[in-house]
Amino acid sequence: MHYPASDLVIDPVLIRKYDTAGPRYTSYPTADRFVEAFGEPELRHWLAKRNVGGFALPLSVYMHLPFCDTVCYYCACNKIATRDHGKSAKYIKYLEKEMALIGPLLGEERELGSLHWGGGTPTFLSREEMGFLVENLKKTFTWARNAECSIEIDPRRLAPGTLAFLAGLGFNRVSLGVQDFDPQVQKAVNRIQSEEVTRQAMAEARASGMSSVNLDLIYGLPKQTLDGFSRTLDKVIALDPDRIALYSYAHLPKLFMPQRRIAEADLPSPETKLQIMTLAIGRLTRAGYLYIGMDHFAKPGDALATAQSQGRLQRDFQGYSTQPECNTLGFGVSAIGRVGPTYYQNFKDLDAYYAALDSGRLPVARGLELSADDLVRRTLIQSLMCHFRVSIESIELAHLIDFRAYFAAELADLRRLAGDGLVEIDGDWIVVTPKGRLLVRVIAMVFDRYLRAREARASYSKVI
Ligand code: SF4
Repeated sequence: MHYPASDLVIDPVLIRKYDTAGPRYTSYPTADRFVEAFGEPELRHWLAKRNVGGFALPLSVYMHLPFCDTVCYYCACNKIATRDHGKSAKYIKYLEKEMALIGPLLGEERELGSLHWGGGTPTFLSREEMGFLVENLKKTFTWARNAECSIEIDPRRLAPGTLAFLAGLGFNRVSLGVQDFDPQVQKAVNRIQSEEVTRQAMAEARASGMSSVNLDLIYGLPKQTLDGFSRTLDKVIALDPDRIALYSYAHLPKLFMPQRRIAEADLPSPETKLQIMTLAIGRLTRAGYLYIGMDHFAKPGDALATAQSQGRLQRDFQGYSTQPECNTLGFGVSAIGRVGPTYYQNFKDLDAYYAALDSGRLPVARGLELSADDLVRRTLIQSLMCHFRVSIESIELAHLIDFRAYFAAELADLRRLAGDGLVEIDGDWIVVTPKGRLLVRVIAMVFDRYLRAREARASYSKVI
């Protein structure tokens, strides 16, 4: 049985039944499994082993730029709201220090295949500051000719000419935050952003030659209605972005302080939220967008869709990626990296991050060295999330296991999901059906050893 990757069936009964909390699997194990026993010495050790045997995976860099002028109430990012632009001047000096510490540990192979600036609001930085960072990146890495360089843009904080300037620095992909055009919703989440501002940012991105433009939307926000979001979708489709990310708002005020400013009574009911999601998926797919996987849509010609059809789509901390499997170095406060069979995360707190660098140490707060079991489960979960199927034989060959014996308990659970039509187990393949696709993380959760070991799901967002 083979279903085209973008085939999607929305089954409200199944969605209601399986609407439990679960991770998004931008990594496996998930970041809440990282431990403090993994610190700077461990990262240094694994960076030194990166080139063993004369082969090193390509490098990718994530740089976290945490400052925002104002705070959006739905925000779950690690950010610092401030009007004091002196703060970023200090911060970039520390990024320079961090790059200077990492540089000598990289050995000969230091070609940078992809770069992502996230936040926060990367354009909080002045042009001089952005130029300074790129200059330092170029000192630390060799810039690949076809490097994929992306940046998150807040259209409200974009001086005219900034996108052309960023294109000049080498950026070729942008992601614009929109969330919802409805003024009532914008007011309720403290993010007032006129359509004109978004349109201008979009036009400037196109004029500067950005090869892919993404728009971010969120459903489930306070004051959102079916009619209002329908109008937002009209406008988004008219803007014609290459990619659209459609996230579900997860209201977790205990974990994220700004969300305490959202009145629960203003949130759409679960039923309305499901209707908004159904409407959005229907409209986007009818407009020609392909469903790539969790939260992501792309035009058929976009690199994400091509990578998926060629079986080389990857899942990483930013969602999906067209880059081959790589080592990711995270720079900046709270940034996460992946080197060899490890993950690491920098200090989340600015003072701790600065203090480590002041004493000449890499600012690693915690991490994890993956076990052989973690690695096989990561491959499997990645395959489910990116391609909606898993070849049992290739997992057996790559990881030297007897799949059916190794995953006997998981296969028993999977059969229960198969009974509801979410997944099919057919000889050598586990295949997520079109109606299982919106619930792919429920299927992935079956293979998450840590979730199986203890029911620690309370801090995750709901599946939809
Ligand atoms: S959503 Fe973006 S702009 Fe808004 S507070 Fe969070 S990081 Fe800052």
